[in-house]
Amino acid sequence: MTQGHDSMQRYHRQMAFGEIGLTGQRALKEASALIVGVGGLGSWVAELLTRSGVGKLVIADDDKVDITNIHRQGLYDQSHAETSTPKVIAAAERLAAINSQVVVDPHQIRVGSGDLAALADRVDVIVDGTDNFHTRFIINDFSVKHSLPWIFAGVVSAEAQMMPVVPAATACLRCVLPEPPPPCADPTCRQAGVLGPAVTAIASMQAIEAIKILSGRTDAVSPHLTKIDFWTNRIQRINAAKSPDCPCCVQRHFDYLEE
Ligand SMILES: [Zn+2]
Repeated sequence: MTQGHDSMQRYHRQMAFGEIGLTGQRALKEASALIVGVGGLGSWVAELLTRSGVGKLVIADDDKVDITNIHRQGLYDQSHAETSTPKVIAAAERLAAINSQVVVDPHQIRVGSGDLAALADRVDVIVDGTDNFHTRFIINDFSVKHSLPWIFAGVVSAEAQMMPVVPAATACLRCVLPEPPPPCADPTCRQAGVLGPAVTAIASMQAIEAIKILSGRTDAVSPHLTKIDFWTNRIQRINAAKSPDCPCCVQRHFDYLEE
C-alpha cells in the first residue's frame, strides 16, 4: 500500500460519517491543535486527534510519568513510569507509532501566560489538559484576546465538566465563573481521587468538540456547559449564556495574561 493511498484510506470510516466526509477530513489534515497538559485529559485527546488525522499537534507538559498516572492516562505504560520518562517524550513516540502522518511538536514546559503566544502560533484550537483553574483562566484570556477557540474540561472523583469556548459565538469561561475558585475549594485528583474511565469519557467529548472546530463545523459545537456525574449517571446541560458584565469577553480585561 502506498503512503498516498494509505494517507486517506485509514480515515475511511470517519469520512463515511456524513458530517465529516472528504471535505471535513481534508480540513482536519490542514488543521493544528495545542494541547496544554498531556496527563489524564490531554493524553487521551492527543491520541484521539492523532487517530482522527489532525495535521499537527503541539503538546506541552513538564511532568514525568509516574506509576500513579497509569490508571487514567492513555499513551503511557509501566516502562515509562519505571524510567520517569517525560510525558511529552513518551507521548510523541506513541503518537508517531499510531499515525506517522501527524506532526507532533513536544514541549517539556509548564505553560504560563508568557508561553502561549509561541506555542499557539498558527494553531486552530487549544485543548485544556491542565489540572488547575489558574492555567485555565490564562488560556481563556488568551483565547478571547486572539479569537482562538479552546475547550475547557475538568474531572474530580467521578464528576466531570466540559465547555467549548468559541470567542464571539459562545460564552467564555469567565462568563460562567468570573474568578477562579480558591485553591482550598479546588480539590485535585490527588486529594479527592478520580475514576479513570470518567477521565477518558470527558476527554473523548473534548476531542469530538475539537474535531467539529477543526473540520470546519463550528456550527455544531455545543453551546453548553456539560456536567456529568459518571457514578450516579446524572447529566446536566447548563445553558452557558454570555454574561453582559464578563470582565474578559465583554470588558476585555485580560488580567491573567498580565501577571
Ligand atoms: Zn465571557
